[in-house]
Amino acid sequence: MSFQRQLRLGMVGGGEGAYIGNIHRLASRLDGAWQLVAGAFDVDPERGRAFAVSIGIDRARSYGSYQELIAGEKGRADRVDAVAICTPNFTHYPIAKALIEAGFDVICEKPLTATLEDALALERLARESGRFVGVTYTYSGYPMVHEARVRVAAGEIGKVRSVQVEYPLEWMATAIEQQGNAQAAWRTDPKKNGRGGSIGDIGTHAYHLAGFVTGLKVEALIADLATFVEGRALDDNAHVMLRYEGGARGLLWSSQVALGNSNGVRLRVFGETGSLQWFQEQPNELVFTPLGGRVQIIKRGADDLSEDAKVRTRTPPGHPEGYLEAFANLYAGFAEAIRARTEGREPGALGRNIPLAYDGLKGVAFVESVVDSAESAAPVWLTPVAT
Ligand code: NAD
Repeated sequence: MSFQRQLRLGMVGGGEGAYIGNIHRLASRLDGAWQLVAGAFDVDPERGRAFAVSIGIDRARSYGSYQELIAGEKGRADRVDAVAICTPNFTHYPIAKALIEAGFDVICEKPLTATLEDALALERLARESGRFVGVTYTYSGYPMVHEARVRVAAGEIGKVRSVQVEYPLEWMATAIEQQGNAQAAWRTDPKKNGRGGSIGDIGTHAYHLAGFVTGLKVEALIADLATFVEGRALDDNAHVMLRYEGGARGLLWSSQVALGNSNGVRLRVFGETGSLQWFQEQPNELVFTPLGGRVQIIKRGADDLSEDAKVRTRTPPGHPEGYLEAFANLYAGFAEAIRARTEGREPGALGRNIPLAYDGLKGVAFVESVVDSAESAAPVWLTPVAT
């Protein structure tokens, strides 16, 4: 079966005033692969319906809840192909489960779920049902992150010794959750967010980014979580030491209280014969330093980049691409993977190396281990006596 038409997208969450839903709408539109045709955009049914109509969704497909969306779309000949879930963490599992059981493909926000139990169940459901479940780990959409992955895999920096990854933010440096900030309110509520505060919200991005680029699995970790803002129920700063398979070591830092950092995602990978560094506020550049050689800046759009980077590049060098294009690369990849499955062929480069349910599960398992480690009595901290 050939599948050349636009894919029809539905959305749950992402209503008036919400954050990530609008990024999904913009990103899904960029390459023309998707058309948003239906949605249950808000926890409040009336607001959701009104918002849908206000952004041009047919009134008949402007739903008050995800259950309504499923009931309304299920019997349509032109039903949605996939539904993007852009709601707070604790709702991902019930919404995704209902969609998958009704036969829809799913694009789910990270973290995949709020609990490990739900993540295990959802990943199993995805595998057994054969439905597509993509997870929007934003940073794996950037072409220069793909370039880094290809170069590490090709041995350009030799055996990896050390991985330094960080995701500092500043927007939760005060108790904004107590001052009416809706996004901060659910993020600091363990029942809605899950057990990991900064580590669940943004540490999961850092963890995925480091694993994506290096291909290494974490064998063990030890974590120190802190809550700096008084009255907050979850960590807002996390330091995690990682031991990777093969002996590499890692340090992961996530923080919601790091003043001066709007979105300072940074990855540095040090190998035996070179290093690579990427900073998301300058996403068009990858810094490569070979052993004994000069620091080199590899630019997005250059002729000698990998196929994986090239297929995720739209504009020539010097015309910067960024966040929306990276997010659009995820959507383009999801479309390619869904088309390939429907047509019974292997996906092209865009549809490979994309974040799927298992990557989502790994992220949630990581958060659980971090919180378990931080809460356990086992770690032993020694005070240096001779300093
Ligand atoms: P938000 O609070 O801004 O928006 C949540 C939206 O979901 C609201 O419109 C709300 O009305 C709606 N909603 C809640 N429950 C619903 C339900 N049962 N049915 C329909 N709509 C419902 O949240 P946000 O900051 O956009 O975060 C949403 C999700 O996206 C979270 O899982 C978060 O971790 C993730 N996120 C990912 C990235 C990324 O880089 N990939 C960035 C930000 C947020």
